[in-house]
Amino acid sequence: MVIFKNINDIKKYISLKKDEGCSVGFIPTMGALHAGHISLVQKSKQDNMLSVCSIFVNPTQFNDKKDLEKYPVSTEADIEMLLTAGCDVLFLPAVSEIYPDGEAHFKTYDFGYLDTVLEGAQRPGHFRGVGQVVARLLEIVEPASLYLGQKDYQQCMVLKKLIELMGLATKLIICPTMREADGLAMSSRNRRLTEPQRVIAGVIYQCLVSIQSKQQNGRFDIVKKECEDLLKAKGFVPEYVALADARDLTLLSDYKAGTPMVALIAAKIGEIRLIDNMLV
Ligand code: AMP
Repeated sequence: MVIFKNINDIKKYISLKKDEGCSVGFIPTMGALHAGHISLVQKSKQDNMLSVCSIFVNPTQFNDKKDLEKYPVSTEADIEMLLTAGCDVLFLPAVSEIYPDGEAHFKTYDFGYLDTVLEGAQRPGHFRGVGQVVARLLEIVEPASLYLGQKDYQQCMVLKKLIELMGLATKLIICPTMREADGLAMSSRNRRLTEPQRVIAGVIYQCLVSIQSKQQNGRFDIVKKECEDLLKAKGFVPEYVALADARDLTLLSDYKAGTPMVALIAAKIGEIRLIDNMLV
């Protein structure tokens, strides 16, 4: 695996590989890698001759600066995991490399409605920062395909729109959410859970399964209340328990037969905020 910290060097290397006929798959991450991230690398390796992973904890997408300060960093272990997975290129830029003129100086995109609901509403400015950094990374790597996890459902929709707004030909590949044995979606933030918090964290998955399984004969307002009560009883503070049209994230007040739906939950335990979703 070749590791680059510098934009000019990685661009030159990728351009050389493209000249040799390699198609490029790109997996942007914030590090503290787990099997979920590695599944994206594996998918990219199946599809492409060159897989490029980036690790960059992007300051502009953290609306909560405490969350940024406490974001787990484990670069040595990440490199080991990427080597084992057979990743070809790792891009590991410093903040000054990505934002040489300061964080405010890069183009941002308007995601409209997507930036106003759920994660957009709970984390003002978050998707603006995500769009800003991914646009920058896409301009550097210029991949044929971009690999994202369904775990961040709304982010996938935002980045689909980003690709459209940028007029790129990049194909978006959404990969399934990797879970722990109790259903908890793998997340870098799980590392910050205490043992007792970790034991109960699977309740988010149980709620999603319950929303999914009650679609035939349940009422969403009742199921939603049951989920909120269960989350609270376990010590979570639910931010949202929502049902939406899976195509455009229009919020639904009840199950809608014939409509592809997605159930989404965000909840905090202590200082740690977890999100998850499931197609219904
Ligand atoms: P992050 O490092 O959290 O920014 O995530 C980098 C990429 O990995 C994003 O596309 C995430 O959606 C994806 N990802 C995170 N967790 C998982 C998971 N449990 N399963 C699959 N993909 C994931």
